[in-house]
Amino acid sequence: MKIVILHSGGLDSTLAFYIAKEWGAEIFPLYVYNKFLALKHKPDVSDLKIIDVTKEFIDIVRSPQYGYGKNLNPCIDCRILMLKKAKEYMEKIKADFIITGEVLDQRPMSQRREQLMHIDKQAGLEGFVVRPLSGGLLPETVPQKECLINRNDLLSIKGRSRKITLDLAQKMKIEQFASPSGGCLLTDPGFCRRLADLMRHQDRVAVRDIELLKIGRHFRLSPEIKLVVGRNEEENESIEKMIKHDEILVYVPDTGSPNAMLLGNKKQSVKIAASITARYSDKKTDKSIEVCYKDNKGIKKVRVKAATNEELAKWRL
Ligand code: SF4
Repeated sequence: MKIVILHSGGLDSTLAFYIAKEWGAEIFPLYVYNKFLALKHKPDVSDLKIIDVTKEFIDIVRSPQYGYGKNLNPCIDCRILMLKKAKEYMEKIKADFIITGEVLDQRPMSQRREQLMHIDKQAGLEGFVVRPLSGGLLPETVPQKECLINRNDLLSIKGRSRKITLDLAQKMKIEQFASPSGGCLLTDPGFCRRLADLMRHQDRVAVRDIELLKIGRHFRLSPEIKLVVGRNEEENESIEKMIKHDEILVYVPDTGSPNAMLLGNKKQSVKIAASITARYSDKKTDKSIEVCYKDNKGIKKVRVKAATNEELAKWRL
């Protein structure tokens, strides 16, 4: 028996993985990744197949068929996409069915019984998704009808409490798993505020835009112009690496200073960008601060006062 497991690296899919192992199945773990997830949460299992769906997922996030959860998380559309990818993989390797770590009623948007059934149907997988943690409470699946697995092999866990699954993990001596929701940034209100701003101002959102949203402080200076200011050494390095030839790098020389990226390449915003950058430098209390800005023609300098808190609040996302 060959099984594809939709693995997130979290507790529930890790449990499902080990339960299916006890069935003696040959298991093919699949991680459907998008750039809104933290890759460091990826499952720590051998022979992991990773499929990056970021490009098609960006369109879904902008306009989900089944709406958003509490933030910009389009969980139903997301699960349908993940299962569609799992189906393609299942067919490619000629697996018998798919398992997931979903627990009935654990999440209000996508894990209620009727939603689980709807998601399976929309993914073209009716009867082919087995949920080992809650399968005892769900309709009979094709692998059960074909006696590949027994209904008694399935648990009947339900609800939001993680106590039962944590106890089970302890019993099964499972210690390594990612935090709940696997670091999905679409459930983070701060990230979603920046993403909503981006979608309002750009018709097309690229993968790089998502990468940029993950770092720095973001300031909207005009509908076309944005500034991203690094918060630490790592982010300063990322900004320097990610900057493109038509963008402007802003920094205060010869002192502790963030790197800032001015997107939109509008020279008239350089002074505002410089005053914001200066505000986060070690010279922020100086009366006049020299700030460098570097574009594709070279490095120039401008003198500014650091932005006030009121000014920052006006532009900050
Ligand atoms: S929380 Fe994020 S990754 Fe998880 S189903 Fe929702 S949108 Fe997808």
